[in-house]
Amino acid sequence: MRFETRAIHVGQDPDPTTGAAVVPIYQTSTYVQEEVGAHKGYEYSRTANPTRTALELALASLEEATHCLAFASGMAAEDAVVRTLAPGDHVLLGDDVYGGTRRLFEKVLAGVYRFTSVDIGSVDAVASAVRPETRMIWVETPTNPYLRIADLAGIAGVAHAAGALLVVDNTFATPYLQRPLSLGADVVVHSTTKYLGGHSDVVGGALCTSDDHLAERLAFLRNATGGVPGPFDSWLVLRGLKTLALRMERHCANAAVVADFLARHPTVSTVWYPGLPSHPGHDLAARQMDGFGGMVSFEVASCEEALRVVKGTKLFFLGESLGGVESLIEHPAAMTHASIADSPFAVSDSLIRVSVGIEAVEDLIEDLAAALG
Ligand SMILES: *Cc1c(COP(=O)(O)O)cnc(C)c1O
Repeated sequence: MRFETRAIHVGQDPDPTTGAAVVPIYQTSTYVQEEVGAHKGYEYSRTANPTRTALELALASLEEATHCLAFASGMAAEDAVVRTLAPGDHVLLGDDVYGGTRRLFEKVLAGVYRFTSVDIGSVDAVASAVRPETRMIWVETPTNPYLRIADLAGIAGVAHAAGALLVVDNTFATPYLQRPLSLGADVVVHSTTKYLGGHSDVVGGALCTSDDHLAERLAFLRNATGGVPGPFDSWLVLRGLKTLALRMERHCANAAVVADFLARHPTVSTVWYPGLPSHPGHDLAARQMDGFGGMVSFEVASCEEALRVVKGTKLFFLGESLGGVESLIEHPAAMTHASIADSPFAVSDSLIRVSVGIEAVEDLIEDLAAALG
């Protein structure tokens, strides 16, 4: 089955008791046992829930993984991955990973694990930053907010030669545009809050892997620490998956038009979009991805100018997050990346990031044109 078909059918057979065509929201915490120990694979909903299982089967299929574990948020999923390490292990982290990922490492886990940052745009830089105790390399591609591209097959080679796992945060690309496990990654991380849910109405996370041993450990950790999504949240993400392919097609098409418009605009000094031939990662993105995604970042003359523009749009809502059907605009230095404002990884305060939605692109261009002036 092709991607679009799997998104709608895998894990989503008609309900065996009623024939319901859509997976029900199994809003239950516990399951009745015929006699002690005789159950149908479900005992307690922290451990497993049928609505969550349906989501996990569908998303595993889309990521070409044998296992998927859904979490209450992307951060809960990330925390579980890191906990598979032993105290003192070293993690190599991309230098412009999601601000919350950096905060998790710097402000929560720094006492337990060691980590250093590296420019993941260069496989050689990654290779020379590996230490004997490196057990994990953590990569986002495209990155946030500069949309840099990492060579996943190249970095997987470096990781495996060092006996380390390659973890890829695939939130920005989604499995529709990029399947990291097929390029050698060991774990895929998602904030399902973004494109997978797709409608800005749910917070969730997921991990995908084809490593049985690791999946077992992650399931143990999730059950032991409890960061699970509820049945309704699982159902919302599952519903989002059904239209992922259609939405991503439109996000990509609209973002390409927006990036092109911005690149020609006199008020804009630089545009970061992997689909532009001028983007340093363009060729790699063209090989590694099936499209360039819906995120565009651009720089204007000053912080004041950036604040004026993000306040001035009407259709692009001013807000954090990304990946929903509606377009969003934000000022990373003061919003999504404010938690790292004092670090060497702070972003420029004249940078603007947009999540291009699936509205009519002509309306989006008119809105940006009016705000840029
Ligand atoms: C939002 C996001 C996260 C964190 O996910 P939550 O669902 O907000 O906890 C992690 N990585 C990336 C790339 C994100 O955009």
